Amino acid sequence: MKNASLLAGAIFATLATFEPVRADEGARWAACDAASAVANDETKTESYVSQWVKVSGANADKIGAECDAIIERLVERYGAPRTWTRFPVIFTGGGGSVAGYTSYAGGFVREVVVYQSFDVARGGTLDHELTHAFFFYWLDANFDLFLNEGAAQNSEYRRREALRRTVYSRYRNGDFVPIDKLYGRNSYDGSLLIYHQGFSVVDFLIARGGSKWFAAFLDDLTRGTRDINKALKGFYGYADLKELEADWLDYVEGGQDRAATRNVLE
Ligand SMILES: [Zn+2]
Repeated sequence: MKNASLLAGAIFATLATFEPVRADEGARWAACDAASAVANDETKTESYVSQWVKVSGANADKIGAECDAIIERLVERYGAPRTWTRFPVIFTGGGGSVAGYTSYAGGFVREVVVYQSFDVARGGTLDHELTHAFFFYWLDANFDLFLNEGAAQNSEYRRREALRRTVYSRYRNGDFVPIDKLYGRNSYDGSLLIYHQGFSVVDFLIARGGSKWFAAFLDDLTRGTRDINKALKGFYGYADLKELEADWLDYVEGGQDRAATRNVLE
């Protein structure tokens, strides 16, 4: 989650009461201040520092190298961010049902915290959180939580197939809500649809035009037209979210066959 200046902390605090299947950062928002006091302690020695991150403590070199590799894949995939200020990545115990979070202060990423072991987080939560951090710098702006979580979920390469299965079963169960109820909502829903539908819609948009095209769409949405209908029309030919939804639901019903998805660039 990244909309630090857009959203009140109270929105995140409400999350602490539900039990997420795929816990994320929101619930720990209220705890950010205490955690960052440790992270920003200048007397603490960092044992791994790169242009992207700083990591201290056990396995710092291994964690730091993986963070760098993840961020470099994101750069390769979406393009280079205009600015970047390195931030601490902290693996720690606790977290309860929360897997990790990314927090922001002003125009900077304050820290990424992961409550899982390195082996569990790799290809999952670590990639997810670093994707939030990446887009925060890539767009130099806040952006819609539904698309933001969808993009972060999409980086969890070890979970993509499982996520697609979850999406399909939720579709079959009639769990979905209209995406115009999720886009612009900018707060978490108790049943994680912002993650599952967000993942699938982003997966579909990336299937239709590739990662860089999707990033350009986000840029247009965030810094260009700032209008979802104009951005959808310009990049994907949809008049609005309803038209996108109709096409996306066909894709879900058809088994999320990315190879069969019409490429918008052809
Ligand atoms: Zn997230």
